[in-house]
Amino acid sequence: MKIMAIGQNYADHNKELQNQTPTEPVVFMKPDSALLKNNKPFFIPDFSNEIHYETELVIKFNRLGKNIEPRFAHRYYAEIGLGVDFTARDLQRTLKAQGKPWEISKAFDNSAVIGDFVPVNSIADVQNIEFRLDLNGKTVQSGNSSQMIFPINELIAHISRYFTIKIGDFLFTGTPAGVGAVAIGDRLEGYVFDQKLFDFYVK
Ligand code: ZN
Repeated sequence: MKIMAIGQNYADHNKELQNQTPTEPVVFMKPDSALLKNNKPFFIPDFSNEIHYETELVIKFNRLGKNIEPRFAHRYYAEIGLGVDFTARDLQRTLKAQGKPWEISKAFDNSAVIGDFVPVNSIADVQNIEFRLDLNGKTVQSGNSSQMIFPINELIAHISRYFTIKIGDFLFTGTPAGVGAVAIGDRLEGYVFDQKLFDFYVK
């Protein structure tokens, strides 16, 4: 199983991080050791003083595919969930400034939180999904997949040119504005529409 992820896919988030609008999807990977599920607590690692949450819609693939055309991409997944792409922002900033790959700031252990998934056939339009993150009971991120710069089917087409998609793989689709640091004791609750898909603590 592999975890593919997209950066800078929401204009309002690019503004807050002062990233330019990408002309093609920004792709990175996380290894299977990054996965954190079942609402297990997230432990702040010792190598960062600035771990940011990034709440993202997550595609779960159920079909093998390569060089998938956008118009066929919907056939490769049947469930969408919500996750957190934890990012060591301080490390990422340093590595980016040095022009080095920022892998370790994104792919470290437990950096890919996934919650529950909902069937795609229960959603009227995958490009009109409302989602949000509540941090300690207060909404800090809210987004809609209609705001994606590159829609889901184009993301799948793009990544499948480079990586064979396998059953059980995940795709994190980017985060809207409102990212911020977590602290010990924080509670993160993620919702798609008004359905809670994850609820866990930071330790
Ligand atoms: Zn992200």
